[in-house]
Amino acid sequence: MINQYFHIQRHTRNFLRKKGGILDHILPHRCIVTGEITQSPTGLSPKAWGELNFISDPMCKSCGTPFSYQLSDTDLETEGQICLSCTEYPFSFARARAVLRYDDASKPMVLGFKHGDKTYMAVNLAEMMRQAGHQLLEDADLLIPVPLHWTRLLKRRFNQSMLLAKRLSFITGIACSSGVLKRIKATPVQGHLNTKARKKNVSHAFLVSPDREDEVRGKRIILVDDVFTSGSTANECAKTLLEAGAKQVDVLCVAKVVRD
Ligand SMILES: [Zn+2]
Repeated sequence: MINQYFHIQRHTRNFLRKKGGILDHILPHRCIVTGEITQSPTGLSPKAWGELNFISDPMCKSCGTPFSYQLSDTDLETEGQICLSCTEYPFSFARARAVLRYDDASKPMVLGFKHGDKTYMAVNLAEMMRQAGHQLLEDADLLIPVPLHWTRLLKRRFNQSMLLAKRLSFITGIACSSGVLKRIKATPVQGHLNTKARKKNVSHAFLVSPDREDEVRGKRIILVDDVFTSGSTANECAKTLLEAGAKQVDVLCVAKVVRD
């Protein structure tokens, strides 16, 4: 019911937007978490803003895991900026960044977007990603969404990562290439799998279309996804793109699982 209200409100607003600023008084923006009226471009009310756990520095410069302590000058000059896990098992992508911790506060919003047909949230989430990923976006030539296998796409009807990438492309002016990276293996849902099993699950699951390799060759690419869990999926995508000739691959997500 609330979902329908948001859809109707958004469609009506888009239709009437050209009619002038009075519209915001008739159909005010509502917070995507609490439903309160808000003017914020991120679509978050102060209450929601206070409850969500945003990821900020200091963090691992590779995987983006936040550190619970301040880095010393020595750390900043050495590998101290890289977390232990990335030191032992480096990812193929250069940098991963996420807006929020994936926790009890952010989960309803992320799942609502992914499974609840609240596709209008892409506007707000992409704006938050633009802010959290500004360093990555400054260096990027191309945005590529993490693809779904066609069977999953048929079932879900939309690829949530594609919606985010398209919106990010619209607000940043960076090109977005869809269909160039394909998921060729219908991998089972990874929710219950550990890191090792996730790696195996997505191994050789992706392919750059042979007739479109020139689109990625020499490019600095940002992979766009909703949730970064173990990094296995993003890593396999990055590996595939680098093998096809990409110059660098970064990862930008809405939320990241942070293990204490
Ligand atoms: Zn790390």
